[in-house]
Amino acid sequence: MSWDEFAKHAKDTADWGANYHKTLRERPVRAQTAPGEIAAQLAATPPEDGIDLTAIMADFETIVMPGITHWQHPRFFAYFNSNAAPASILAEFLASIIAPQCMLWQTSPAATEMETRMMDWLRHALGLPDIYQGVIQDSASSATLAAVLTMRERALAFRGNIEGLHGQPQLRIYCSDQVHSSIDRAIWVAGIGQDNLVKIPTTGDLRHMDPVELEAAIRKDKTAGRVPAGIIAATGATGMGACDDLKAVARIAKAHNLYTHLDAAWAGTAMICPEFRPLWAGAEHFDSIVFNPHKWLGAQFDCAAHFLRDPDQLRQTLAIRPEYLKTHAAEDITDYSEWSIPLGRRFRALKLWFLMRHYGMEGLRTRIRNHVTWSQALCEQLRGHPGFEIVTNPILSLWTFKVAGASDEETQTLVDAINDDGRIYLTQTLIDGQKVIRFTAGQFDCEERDFHTAFDAITDIASQL
Ligand SMILES: *Cc1c(COP(=O)(O)O)cnc(C)c1O
Repeated sequence: MSWDEFAKHAKDTADWGANYHKTLRERPVRAQTAPGEIAAQLAATPPEDGIDLTAIMADFETIVMPGITHWQHPRFFAYFNSNAAPASILAEFLASIIAPQCMLWQTSPAATEMETRMMDWLRHALGLPDIYQGVIQDSASSATLAAVLTMRERALAFRGNIEGLHGQPQLRIYCSDQVHSSIDRAIWVAGIGQDNLVKIPTTGDLRHMDPVELEAAIRKDKTAGRVPAGIIAATGATGMGACDDLKAVARIAKAHNLYTHLDAAWAGTAMICPEFRPLWAGAEHFDSIVFNPHKWLGAQFDCAAHFLRDPDQLRQTLAIRPEYLKTHAAEDITDYSEWSIPLGRRFRALKLWFLMRHYGMEGLRTRIRNHVTWSQALCEQLRGHPGFEIVTNPILSLWTFKVAGASDEETQTLVDAINDDGRIYLTQTLIDGQKVIRFTAGQFDCEERDFHTAFDAITDIASQL
């Protein structure tokens, strides 16, 4: 392909993209395909001869698009959103064109220095103290794994990487019973073992870890000769949005010299609005904090903002410097590959720079506030509608409901019927063993009318069952 042809196709793709977004509301949110339908249309072996891109683009329309669940649909109310604001898409396009590898300062000075600055912007936007330094990880899962590895190495006086885990003391890490599965996986991958992840029961409206139980569990482990290494807290956990009491957790961690990590993957974005910050009061005491601009904020996946009080502990855990990775004669530079598990890194800061400059923090705040207001209004509307029960009250824009008295099977039937209908997309979750319907809002371009459609879809379909 010549670069002139590239330019033509790129312009066509931009037109296609604009049209796609302008007509998204007309499409069903969730893909309406059966398993195997798409695979059946894809050749079993790769072609020997190349073809023109126009033909590939046509196949993209007929084969791929019917099998897409539209994450950028304004009525996507299912999982936590994964927004791609238009300004961010353009930055990603530029990053793809330049395609730099941002592992070291010298392999990408602009990306490295912009990453430092963008993490400073985000820290400022969240109201965190300026002691924190940041790095952009590919996902919250990776940030949590990096934090768990730091907990492990710190508790083993940095001997684990050298000696292995055989014969080391039995490490213990604590979290609530509400945490995301990425916490469990980090524990597995770090070699700590599921049995050493102590899940503390939760209590209260926000389902926070019971501090009395947390303290008791730590003391019991110490008495038994086990070694507590860290605590992982959550602000806005996935199921119903549980928020730990971060002040209490930080106090206990300090008393026992434990490393603390906060998973605010979804809810962290809301902290750009000062009125929501009471939900994470005490966050400023944590050693490590992650939130995903690739969820609610609008930076295209992938982009996980990871803040550290003392990056040296992380670097001591992850940095490795063979000769070919050394940057000679450069002082005061940051090689971000020392802060993360993969060596290779994309230019992720660029989309944050485009996003925050184009919308401004006030523009982004307005969106978050609207999502929360409209979602909570829908919750109240449904609470007032005969036959519905709100099971957990809104935490930001997330709440759960069911048809009062419905069995788990009936609740699942309603979720499936709503998603087959296509106007909106929801998921189910378990709360205290009972199946409920989960509603969460945060699509970048959603409007109040989309919530009215949601009310109509939910009540129409429920009345037909
Ligand atoms: C989405 C989410 C994660 C996982 O995020 P990834 O970036 O996909 O790894 C972890 N924790 C919580 C609370 C989440 O909402």
